Amino acid sequence: MEIVRSQREPTHSAASTTSAKLSFYRSAPALEVRLEDFELYAIDRLRVLQGISDGLSRGKKPEEMEKLVTELWRAHMRHQDPSEVMNKDIISHFVLRLVYCRTDELRKWFLSMETSLFRYRFRLESPESQRSLMSEFQLPYKAISRAEFETVKEKLNQVARSIGQPLNADTLFFKAPFEEVPELFAGRRVFLQKGFAYVAMHQVVSLVATQFRSNLSKCLVLTNRKWTSTIRDTERDRLAPIIEALSTGYLGPDYSQPKNSAEISLKDINGQASSSFPLCMRHLFDKLRETHHLKHGGRMQLGLFLKGVGLRLEDALLFWKSEFSQKVGAERFDKEYAYSIRHNYGKEGKRTDYTPYSCQKVISSTPSTGDHHGCPYRHFSEENLRAALTKMGVCGRSVDGILDKVRNKHYQIACTLTFEAIHDAPYDSGINHPNQYFDASRKILQNKMEST
Ligand code: SF4
Repeated sequence: MEIVRSQREPTHSAASTTSAKLSFYRSAPALEVRLEDFELYAIDRLRVLQGISDGLSRGKKPEEMEKLVTELWRAHMRHQDPSEVMNKDIISHFVLRLVYCRTDELRKWFLSMETSLFRYRFRLESPESQRSLMSEFQLPYKAISRAEFETVKEKLNQVARSIGQPLNADTLFFKAPFEEVPELFAGRRVFLQKGFAYVAMHQVVSLVATQFRSNLSKCLVLTNRKWTSTIRDTERDRLAPIIEALSTGYLGPDYSQPKNSAEISLKDINGQASSSFPLCMRHLFDKLRETHHLKHGGRMQLGLFLKGVGLRLEDALLFWKSEFSQKVGAERFDKEYAYSIRHNYGKEGKRTDYTPYSCQKVISSTPSTGDHHGCPYRHFSEENLRAALTKMGVCGRSVDGILDKVRNKHYQIACTLTFEAIHDAPYDSGINHPNQYFDASRKILQNKMEST
């Protein structure tokens, strides 16, 4: 792929090389890609992969996952020019290969999400298209001959009946080494003989996904070598910063811009903190009220969040002063702390308008003793988290479900489950940003008020 800055149209279309909708991404396409598309396409694909990751962590069933993948693909991988859809698919995949080749952990996540995406997309293809994909990609599986079929027909029928999918005369079978179909083997859904599995056409997704995964796994290792040996240096000023930002970046709405009208005022801040703040902000808010002080990390995390929910600068100064002055006195507050609050609002120093922290940023922070910032799902002990959830009104099996996600390091899913338990409403988009939590909560509560 050649990355260009100009507005030139792509010189070749990857789509023109294949008639199928799905690609095995065997080699990078001969395309010119505009720098903007390089990043935007990757962000769109990342939204799909993150949606899949959320769906799997929430334990969605295969049918639900199939629906979710279809919706995610439709929502994010469209292109105003239909002939460019496949190019977008291929370009975004190769960009994310660069992003996710760089560490074991990143490779593992990408491999798993891309394989899931491929598996569901393959299942949605028609049988004809699946057959043509198999021959196009020269998968090393041959359909068994009529003569061989006759020798094993009875056994195949027995397996087919036991899984409730009787054979018809035209069912095509492939023979594959049994270790390549672990799911079918474990679920006793194939006939095995002499180390080979006889896989019916409707089960080939398992074979194809295994091939896809093994191919991608090798490619990621090779891409990593290229990245460390050349690309990282040659693209130091151009692609490398985009690539590095993509694996940690926040992909949701922008909360950096001040709202047109104030969303929160001092008179209702207490009520809204208890009804609509996510746990990370509620904890900071409560600690501030209790100790009349927060260290720098806490002031930044809560201060920028409050700015993002619409607390005006004048109100922010009054709010922080009313607490801090009880501990350090009004004069010291004016001298030492007011500056950094104005700074957060872009009124001091470089006049940068600082952005409220995303969940990823909060989760990856490293609070020390005496700090109260960070994400409670990641940084609290299980006992403290249980107590904090109970204080928020979450109890019983909901708490167990949340703690289960925390043990598996799915902190944002745990926060989403808390949101759902508190608001008694599903929230399929998942929490990615504390300000998103607040906005979604206000919307639900306002709707409830209007309908009563
Ligand atoms: S998941 Fe995000 S919103 Fe929820 S507590 Fe953690 S940082 Fe805050």
